[in-house]
Amino acid sequence: MHRQRNAKIVATLGPSSCDLTTVRALFDAGADVFRLNFSHGTHAQHQERLEIIRRVERDVGRPIAVLLDLQGPKLRIGTLANGPITLQAGAAFRLDLDPTPGDATRVPLLHQEIFAALDTDTELLIDDGKVRLKVVSFGPDFADTQVVTGGTISDRKGVNVPSVLLPIPAMTPKDRADLEFGLTLGVDWVALSFVQRPEDVHEVKTIVQGRAAVLAKLEKPAAIESLAAIVDAADAIMVARGDLGVELPAEQVPRIQKQIVRACRATGKPVVVATQMLESMISSPVPTRAEASDVANAVYDGADAVMLSAESASGSYPREAVAMMDRIIAEVESDPDYRSAIDASHTAPQAEVADAICLALQQTANLLPVAAIVTYTRSGYTSLRAARERPVVPVVGMTPEFATARRLALVWGVHAVHADENVSDVPDMVNKACAVARGEAFAQTGNFIVVASGTPFGVAGTTNFLHIAKV
Ligand code: PGA
Ligand code: MN
Repeated sequence: MHRQRNAKIVATLGPSSCDLTTVRALFDAGADVFRLNFSHGTHAQHQERLEIIRRVERDVGRPIAVLLDLQGPKLRIGTLANGPITLQAGAAFRLDLDPTPGDATRVPLLHQEIFAALDTDTELLIDDGKVRLKVVSFGPDFADTQVVTGGTISDRKGVNVPSVLLPIPAMTPKDRADLEFGLTLGVDWVALSFVQRPEDVHEVKTIVQGRAAVLAKLEKPAAIESLAAIVDAADAIMVARGDLGVELPAEQVPRIQKQIVRACRATGKPVVVATQMLESMISSPVPTRAEASDVANAVYDGADAVMLSAESASGSYPREAVAMMDRIIAEVESDPDYRSAIDASHTAPQAEVADAICLALQQTANLLPVAAIVTYTRSGYTSLRAARERPVVPVVGMTPEFATARRLALVWGVHAVHADENVSDVPDMVNKACAVARGEAFAQTGNFIVVASGTPFGVAGTTNFLHIAKV
C-alpha cells in the first residue's frame, strides 16, 4: 500500500486515541507519524501507546515514526493560598522566590534565572498571555510589576518571558528522565521544546547519540533570531505556533511560519507546521473554512508535514481530523497550480555531489515518463536530498535500517521501504529497486525508474550515482 500524497500528517496520541482500534483508524485515515506528548501522561501510558503503534506498524507492514515531544523548560508560577485571584489593570503585583502560596498581591515564581534576566519594562505573560505584567523594579529574588492586561490567574499557570534570552538549560530534570525513557522505548524522533539557541540542540544530540533524530520546536523569539544556526543544528524543525503566538503578536506568526518553512526547504531539513490547524475539530466533525485554508497554505508552501495536537489527542473527532487533513492535502496537491507554487519557492541546490545527483533526478523525471525515484540509503541522506528537490514523482526510500525507514515517514514525498542488507553491486541494487517499485505499486513493467545511491554501499553521505532503469 502507498499513500497518494507528498505532505505528511503527524497525529498526537492522547486519551481520545490510545487504543489499538483508534490508532489503527488514525493510520488508515492518513497519519504517518504519531506524537507522544510528554507534557501530559505517565511513562506507563506512553509505553502502552508506543507498543500499540508498533503493533499497528506490524499489522500494516509500513514503517511509522514515533515522535517523543519533551515538555522543555516551561516556566510556571507557584500556587495560591485561597484559589484563583483576579488582577486589575494598573494594579501592583509581585513575583518572588518565596515558596509560600500567593495572594492578591504576590505569587511565587521559583525560577531564579528569570529574575537574573529581567530588565525594567520586561513583559511577563501568564496563562498563554491572558494576563500581562510589566516589570517596574526587580532584584535577584523578586520582581515588582504593574498589571498591563488584567485577568484571573490560578495555580501553576504558565509564564512566558518573550523578550529576553533566558539563561536556562534546554532540558529540565524531567526532560532528561523522559528522554532516557523514550530512548529505551525506541522512539524515532525527539522534539525539544522552547529551543533558544543552537547549543540547546547540540546538548540533546550529545545525549541522544544518534539513537533518534532530533527536532527543534521553534516557539521563542530568540530562536527566530538564530534561525539559520538552529536549522543547521537540528535534524528537523517544528513551527510551534501555540507558544510562538503567545511570545509574539499573532499577526507575526504567518510571516515567521513562512520564513521558517523557506529556511528548512532551502537546507533540506524536514519542517512540521503545528498547532490549531483544525482546532475547532476538537468538538466539531468539520473544521472552519479558515482552518481548512490554513492546512492548505502550509501544503502550498511545501511543508513536509502538518500536525494535529488536541484534535487527535483529546478531541471528540480524532479520526475525522486526520481524514480531513488527508483530504485537504490531496486537494491541494491535485491543483494544477500547486506545482508552480512549489517550484517558485524552491531554492537552488548546493554545489555538492549529492545535490547534483538529485537535480539530475528531478530533471530526468521531467524529461522521461519516470514512475518513481528510488533512493537506496543507509542514513536517509540521499532520500532527504531527493525530497529537497520536491520532485514530480514519488521518492521510494529503500534502506536496510529500520530506524531510517521510520524517520523518513516525516519527510515530504518519501515512501520508505525496509530493504535487504546485502547489495552486491549496482545491477543487484537496480534489480532490487525495480522489484520494490513494482511490488509497492509505484511502477509497472515497462516504466522507467531512476535509482540514486552512493558507493561504497552502506557508507552514509556518499550519494554519487544515478541509474535509469526500465522495470
Ligand atoms: P506544545 O508545542 O503543544 O508542546 O506546546 C506546540 C506549540 O507550542 O505550538
Ligand atoms: Mn509549545
